Amino acid sequence: MDTPAVKLTSGYWIPALGLGTWHLRGEECVTAMRTALGMGYKHIDTADMYGNQAEIGRAMAGYDRSDIFVTSKVWRDDLHYDDVVRVGEAILRDLQTDYLDLLLIHWPNRSVPLRETFGALEQLVEQGRVRSVGVSNFDVALLKAAIQATDLPLTNNQVEFHPLLRQQELLAFCKQHDITLTAYCPLGRGAVLSNEVIVNLAGEYGKSPAQVSLRWLIQQGTIVIPKAGSEDHMRENMAIFDFEISPDDTQVIDRIEDKHHVVALDP
Ligand code: NAP
Repeated sequence: MDTPAVKLTSGYWIPALGLGTWHLRGEECVTAMRTALGMGYKHIDTADMYGNQAEIGRAMAGYDRSDIFVTSKVWRDDLHYDDVVRVGEAILRDLQTDYLDLLLIHWPNRSVPLRETFGALEQLVEQGRVRSVGVSNFDVALLKAAIQATDLPLTNNQVEFHPLLRQQELLAFCKQHDITLTAYCPLGRGAVLSNEVIVNLAGEYGKSPAQVSLRWLIQQGTIVIPKAGSEDHMRENMAIFDFEISPDDTQVIDRIEDKHHVVALDP
């Protein structure tokens, strides 16, 4: 089954399921990428600070570039104008590609004016090096500032989001402003998989806890990027478009009391 896609305000489409690649390095990364692309993953999430873009570039080389949606991110120490342009070009070189589908500000840095960073992103968009831009780890206040800082459509905010961390206020704001929300750590790096509510629902639906978590996220309207190193996990995470969690069971998940942050808010 083809992965559904979501339209960005830039006019481009982003597949609703992608492969997370944090912690995939070296030959393990090349092998995992080839496995994922071979089974039909069409959306890859990476970042300059993951140190794996050259490996991803090697694995993508055998594929039609236009079939793959690649997201990368500029780290918070590189948000001055010249640094964004330099890192943007380095990312393209490493990935062996002429353009990035989506480039995100990886993490806010209050000591660099957002206008300066977006000025550089605007240049990369004008040159056709980047198709869509967005942010990551931005709360509502920062999103409001980002909207004011650029004429570019702010297409995406990538944040931690899973059944144990339901950022409903942020999601509502994003929907109101046509900003897509990508849920990172969609399995809570494993924490979701042992939650009793999720495990029970998985049993009822004949699905795995990972599939219930990802399906719930898709039904929230988010984009999911589970990281998987093994072929079995990759395949399992793709099989989430053939079932639906009922409204009643959605409410059961919405009432889970655990609050679980995987990623520290201010690294
Ligand atoms: P995650 O996707 O929630 O969890 C990954 C872990 O779950 C891995 O140990 C993986 O094992 C396991 N797993 C995957 N599929 C499974 C399945 N079907 N059943 C059981 N276990 C399964 O955590 P994450 O990697 O931290 O987050 C996902 C991606 O989001 C990252 O890779 C990265 O691309 C992005 N991210 C972005 C930010 C940001 O600041 N923007 C921060 C964190 C993460 P195996 O590898 O052994 O398959």
